[in-house]
Amino acid sequence: MSLPIRLRITIWSVALLAIMMASLGAFVVIRLRADLVAGVDSTLATRASQIALGLRGPGEGEFQDVTDAALRQLPGSESAAQLLDPSGTVVERSGDAAAASPMIGADDLTAVRRGEPMHRTVKLGPDAEPFRILALQLPTSPERIVVVATSLDTVDASAGRLTTLLLLAGPGLLLVAGLGGWWLARAALAPVSRITQTAGEIGIERLDERVDVPATSDEIHDLAVTMNGMLERLERGVAEQRRFLADASHELRTPLAVMRSELEVNLRERGLPADARATLESVQEEIESMGAMVEDLLTLARADEGQLLLAPEPTDLHTSAARVREALATAAATSWVEVRLEGNGTPVFADRRRIEQVLRNLMANSITYAGRGGHVMVSTWTEAGSARCSVRDDGPGIPVAARAHVFDRFFRADPSRAHGGAGLGLAICREIVLAHGGHIQVTSEEGEGSTFTFWIPMRDGGAGSEDEAEPGSEGEEPGSAR
Ligand code: ADP
Repeated sequence: MSLPIRLRITIWSVALLAIMMASLGAFVVIRLRADLVAGVDSTLATRASQIALGLRGPGEGEFQDVTDAALRQLPGSESAAQLLDPSGTVVERSGDAAAASPMIGADDLTAVRRGEPMHRTVKLGPDAEPFRILALQLPTSPERIVVVATSLDTVDASAGRLTTLLLLAGPGLLLVAGLGGWWLARAALAPVSRITQTAGEIGIERLDERVDVPATSDEIHDLAVTMNGMLERLERGVAEQRRFLADASHELRTPLAVMRSELEVNLRERGLPADARATLESVQEEIESMGAMVEDLLTLARADEGQLLLAPEPTDLHTSAARVREALATAAATSWVEVRLEGNGTPVFADRRRIEQVLRNLMANSITYAGRGGHVMVSTWTEAGSARCSVRDDGPGIPVAARAHVFDRFFRADPSRAHGGAGLGLAICREIVLAHGGHIQVTSEEGEGSTFTFWIPMRDGGAGSEDEAEPGSEGEEPGSAR
């Protein structure tokens, strides 16, 4: 069953209470009826003795029944009495319910003749009303048998009244118990909801946060403490991993620089055989891309440690985009991609080198994915206190499922089509834009192309809001990073 715990606790407690109340109610009603019947039995015994006293000897005296009902002036139908002869024939009788036939059967008659007084509940009269009867031998004349009967109407009415009362009060009590149980379960589980909410909000970037530990010494306190312990271990593990990444990338820089310069020296040799030169050039290319990856890793490691130091200066997005277009001109020409630039002065106070890194990553991707004969449009503009830039291409676009992940590290939507990158370019773009207090997002439509847009606040707190649309945005479900 997938019901919330709160509801399950409430249902179980109400069900248990209902069973207990039903059992207790049944016990009380049965006990009350038994006690009332016992009272009736003792009244019957008194009446039988009175009748016996009236009939002092065999054949003498008077059959007289002064019943409770008669004393209380109740209708005669509520009690009856008979005097039976040895053959079981009714000799005398009183009360409406006492018919000419005996109130007890032949078997009971035999048993009573053996001297055992007998109590029974029988149905008498035309309405087959329940009566309690007592049959016994006359002590003075054992041949004769006195049978006295009293209606059980009042007993049944009392038991019925109590049953009705319990049936009326029961649901009300169960409702109160249910509401109380629901409230208690809610109050008891509220800290768990708070812990769940906080834990759900803690991502890899916020591992220094902790869940609230309730000031109690119960299971929820233990849960919060355990969860905080786990977060601490995670935080330490992630920090160690980041430090390792930073140290490793840093350490790799020097040997790569040495290899790069040694290769350059060797390639300057004039008498180098052609095949050796080709090999060295290929190695040089690999070293270049390895160097770029190490730089990327170092940038990310620094961003993770909050050490992506920016050197902000008055910058112009449009000028930077023009400069990057110039730098990528050969790549664009080789791929037969036309890169156009629109917009004019877009001043911003930012780290120019880092902003151009973002522009280079976005434009290089667009040139690659636009493919032969494709088009790339770079637009810059200012809006709502932020400098904005979008890089649009008419390439294959990004599949819907991949859109939310393109800014993740080492993510490549389609590794078979990837241009040899390690999936770090957009992750770096995101870190740089975030470090500037900005925002980056992608919109795309499969088969139509992709548009990457980022914006940087021109002043502190001037970042644009998510609902502002940039010109030329297309497609649905933007993948974004903030
Ligand atoms: P890489 O260096 O491998 O390109 P990126 O982080 O720059 O890594 O890009 C991640 C993934 O996003 C790429 O592998 C590619 O699948 C997708 N991608 C990025 N830019 C574009 C684009 N302009 N058009 C289509 N897909 C893109």
